[in-house]
Amino acid sequence: MADYIYTMELRLTPNQQKGVTLVQDIARNAGMNVYLTGGAVRDIISGFPIRDLDFTVQGNPLKLQKEFERAGAVIGGADDDFKTIYVTLPGGVRAEVSSARTERYEKTGKPPVITPATIIEDLRRRDFTVNAMALSLNPGSRGLLMDPFNGAADIEAKLLRILHNYAFVEDPSRLIRASRFSARFHWPLEERTQARYDSAKENNYIEYIANRTIGYEIEQLAYEDDPLNVIRVFEKEGWLKILSPHWTTAKVETNGLSQLMKTRQQMNDLGYAPDPSPAVLHFLTARLNDKEAAEIRKAIPRRDLAEAWRDLEDNAKDLAKRLSGKEAATPSRTWKLLSSARQEMVLFLAVTARQQAVEQKIKNFFTKWRQIQQKIPLPEMTELLITPQLPEYPKIAEEVFMLLLDGKLRSRTEILKFLKPLAPPPPPPPPPPRRGRGAKAAAAQTPAPVVETPAKKKGKGAVTAPAAAPGKSPAPAKHPTQAKEAPKPLAKSPTKTPPKPAPKAPAKKNPSKKKGSKKH
Ligand code: ATP
Repeated sequence: MADYIYTMELRLTPNQQKGVTLVQDIARNAGMNVYLTGGAVRDIISGFPIRDLDFTVQGNPLKLQKEFERAGAVIGGADDDFKTIYVTLPGGVRAEVSSARTERYEKTGKPPVITPATIIEDLRRRDFTVNAMALSLNPGSRGLLMDPFNGAADIEAKLLRILHNYAFVEDPSRLIRASRFSARFHWPLEERTQARYDSAKENNYIEYIANRTIGYEIEQLAYEDDPLNVIRVFEKEGWLKILSPHWTTAKVETNGLSQLMKTRQQMNDLGYAPDPSPAVLHFLTARLNDKEAAEIRKAIPRRDLAEAWRDLEDNAKDLAKRLSGKEAATPSRTWKLLSSARQEMVLFLAVTARQQAVEQKIKNFFTKWRQIQQKIPLPEMTELLITPQLPEYPKIAEEVFMLLLDGKLRSRTEILKFLKPLAPPPPPPPPPPRRGRGAKAAAAQTPAPVVETPAKKKGKGAVTAPAAAPGKSPAPAKHPTQAKEAPKPLAKSPTKTPPKPAPKAPAKKNPSKKKGSKKH
């Protein structure tokens, strides 16, 4: 049995991994079998970035909405007919949970007849072989890959292949999907699939596309890493006017879009993960009129995305106003404001701000002020025992950073003057060594911390420290200033919680240490 759990865990981000565990637990508690399906499995195997998670449950996911909300997820929309919920899991992980089903298409252009089904039957209703795989998340079979159409081989061959000859007739939105995947992965259509695609195009099957799928495919455009490339292909293939009759690539604000993607990358490099999808939709439709854009918005199934797009400009104006006012009168205040603002808004404003002062503040936030962060006086702090082990360390470090930002701490003397009152008291001196019987008894009770390993003995009397247990950190230093590692410079943001304080080193000197080495 091929076990893909390791591959999955390796490829998912920590938040996506948590998302998988969460969905798995919720489904399990509700007595439903659950599988990771569709694009997520394809991307795990192919090595492409995993943009979202598709889950399929044997049961009705609409019943799980409350559980998801209780776990901190946001329900962005639901499709009652197809029993699907659109969820944003904690950490901003986009997910879709659908019920395992068969879809029987009885008449062209009519919605399919839906029946609950097993996972294998569900895989048969899918679009391409590479999307028709499932990874079990159930006890007993967790990690088992179900691949009835040999999608893994098509991933290897980099080919898009439909599951049967009627794929495009049954659901013409698959034509648009074929173009989208082909444009994104640069994978061609397999020969027979290409023939079916051409014939469907020639016969104008696209006329029968369901409104539901139009909205779904518009939404998918927002998640593309290179939406301009995809929308150009759509236009060339004649699909863009199907998504909206007024939409052309001339309506796209291309400069804004490419600037958005660059800034997003810059933010990713700094450790932020803003969701660019509302802003992508903004730029893709920037030159459509309000009514045309509103129609597109209405079609999007994920309501939270549609609303985020609708409110984008107003929210950006609010943030720009705050950045121009008292709230951002100093660099430290501006830093705090931008650190606590929604990163989606910072991203959008970074690209669209027209006031020079606002633009400059965002620029400083991304560049100059981060260099000042490197100037946090770690040697002085260590000297004063202000190290990450202290619970109040993050607060002190942040305060120092804010003062540095505002130019209020310049010289070493100023820094020390500020830090000294915040330094913890020095640790108590070790008690005097015990003598006589008491010492012997204590020595007998305390296990020796050093063990001589004759096999590895390098020289006479050589002693080896016991190996640290796997995954455990080495023994803490007796004194913070003796720590081998200098306190880590604050991660990207000084507001982040530092590692938990290490347990204190034993105050007593271990009397058995010397004796232990003699004994053996
Ligand atoms: P990505 O999210 O990376 O664009 P994806 O394959 O996950 O790709 P989604 O649109 O999220 O695409 O769809 C999830 C899965 O649902 C697909 O992988 C496919 O198995 C199935 N699916 C979606 N739309 C259709 C369709 N029109 N016909 C058949 N199956 C579909």
